[in-house]
Amino acid sequence: MLISELDLNNKKVLVRVDFNVPMNENLKVADNTRIKSSLKTILYIIKNGGTCILISHMGRPNGYEEKLSLKNIVEEFEMLLNKKITFLDDCIGDKIKKACQESQKGDVVLLENLRFYPEEEAGDVNFARGLSTLGDVYINDAFGTAHRNHASTGILPTFFKGKKGMGLLLSKEVDAIEKVLKNGTPPILSIIGGAKVSSKIEILKNLTNVVDDLIIGGGMAYTFVKANGGEIGNSLCEEAFLDEAQKILLLAKGKNVKVHLPQDVIVSEKLSNAAITDTVNIYNIPRTMEGVDIGPLSIKKFNKIILNSKTILWNGPLGVFEMSNFQNGTKQVALSIANATKLGAFSLVGGGDSISAIKLFGMGDKFSYISTGGGAMLESIQGKVLPGIKAVLN
Ligand code: AMP
Repeated sequence: MLISELDLNNKKVLVRVDFNVPMNENLKVADNTRIKSSLKTILYIIKNGGTCILISHMGRPNGYEEKLSLKNIVEEFEMLLNKKITFLDDCIGDKIKKACQESQKGDVVLLENLRFYPEEEAGDVNFARGLSTLGDVYINDAFGTAHRNHASTGILPTFFKGKKGMGLLLSKEVDAIEKVLKNGTPPILSIIGGAKVSSKIEILKNLTNVVDDLIIGGGMAYTFVKANGGEIGNSLCEEAFLDEAQKILLLAKGKNVKVHLPQDVIVSEKLSNAAITDTVNIYNIPRTMEGVDIGPLSIKKFNKIILNSKTILWNGPLGVFEMSNFQNGTKQVALSIANATKLGAFSLVGGGDSISAIKLFGMGDKFSYISTGGGAMLESIQGKVLPGIKAVLN
């Protein structure tokens, strides 16, 4: 169900949010994107007469760890919400239940880090039952953890038959992914980059069922080139996945998916901005050099394919974008996608490193949708139904 289909008036609404935000060394929020993304749902609940009881995890604690207490985000959260909230220093038990019951319509209550209890990650039913006594309605708005079958995401919703649903952020994420995987307007293009083929095999396989064109770039392209008989010098290569790479190419061919590998690449003697570079054909990389970015011919070719596409999914950088001398390919591809978006294409960008790259280029607002969940987004594009989403649907 969607949050809009639920009666929230005078209800204690237990909301699983994703406040797992990066913190700096002074225990201040370093990037508030995830908190900002949850505000719409919180404000919607308040407007519709409910009380928000917020639950979240932060980091990977081993029991209680002060540096991973959610009290550290309260100041930033109150500033963004423009409202005082109530922070409770635990997330379960009689004291917390009483405090939640005493909260008033329109209040926002934030509970302590769920992962201070190992029962959360273990998906413990009794822990989930304890949490379920804190609210009348359950909302999941934590896309970033929707791929985890933890107590608060996979088990807790089973206690809320007919009184649970997706928050506004979660439903937007699901819609954006469906706009590509289920209802994409052709031609559909996916651009997959990043370091390792091994981490993206299932994604590539599933995408052959969906896309018309598949651009493979970044470090993972070299395993494909080697599988095709190319000389890749010192470039990244996963020898154990040469067969798998070949299988993916055959699978794509069988489904009429056009796979585009870079034609030319920037090569370097080492991963350093100071290193000597050259531009060469990707099938002929000198023995002492490694491919670090895509070259001008590849950029031109990819630009044409991108501008011809109506639906674009991008995950993973096309080169070592963290180094200024090797970021041009990723930047040019980002610009092409932004241009295609301006011309009416639907573009979805996801995965930690592509998001870091577009933030670095100051292009955070140039795409149709930027996914907030790294692992959850990757598992969705593998074609999996995520446990946290499944649990609020039935
Ligand atoms: P992933 O986490 O698999 O998406 O990989 C992201 C990482 O891939 C980034 O840190 C990039 O620097 C790295 N990367 C992209 N292209 C290359 C390349 N040609 N050689 C080495 N690393 C690369």
